[in-house]
Amino acid sequence: MQIHDPVIIAGPCAVENAPMLEETIRFLDARRIHLVRAGLYKPRTDVRSFQGLGADGIPILADLKQKYPVGFISEILDIRDLERLAEVVDVFQVGSRNMDNYALLKELGKAGVPVLLKRGMCATLREFACAAEYLTQYGSRQVVLCERGIRSFDTATRNVLDLSCVPLIREMTALPVIVDLSHSLGRKDIAASMGRAALACGADGVMVEVHPDPDAAWSDARQQMSFREFDCFLDFLNRGEL
Ligand code: PEP
Ligand code: MN
Repeated sequence: MQIHDPVIIAGPCAVENAPMLEETIRFLDARRIHLVRAGLYKPRTDVRSFQGLGADGIPILADLKQKYPVGFISEILDIRDLERLAEVVDVFQVGSRNMDNYALLKELGKAGVPVLLKRGMCATLREFACAAEYLTQYGSRQVVLCERGIRSFDTATRNVLDLSCVPLIREMTALPVIVDLSHSLGRKDIAASMGRAALACGADGVMVEVHPDPDAAWSDARQQMSFREFDCFLDFLNRGEL
């Protein structure tokens, strides 16, 4: 099977400082990957965990946008951050915890900014499709859906990657669909094979976390790929045959 130019979104779980983001962008740029994760507001389960740089990270992104041909995808948690984030963010991520935050979706719709909408961790496909309609009904013209795994009983993976979501949600919405391999699996060893599977069942692209030094990452250390691991991952995807 030939896989045609899937979109690859990559980058760290969170922006920790300027050098680590620049190092990652330089690495990805050399591989012609220009849609980069750059989380500034992190929705963490434990309030004591790193919450992201917040607005302090905006000048970092602004500076790197001057230097590299890069588009940033970053999560928005609070609509009051929209105006400032819009200076540097190209795609606004609505994370799993906010999929059914309809007030947020309406405001993003009205703002007309590109949105990547993640599936809620306990959302049915209908609920996912309906959430997307909050965006489109209120004005969004560029919405991408993201399957990121759903909660279940098995702890072998962080969540259960529901690949049936890909063809089914496509029938329900006609919006592009990508698969977040990092937050669904929570591990790297099967990301390449599941990435192939995602593309084989019709995903328009995949998203993975990449960090210059995953062991030292301030969040999601276990699932972030090193540069070498990411190269192996890309190689496997690009082989293009099943
Ligand atoms: C993320 O992509 O940074 C994230 C927090 O993912 P999710 O909302 O899927 O948990
Ligand atoms: Mn993460």
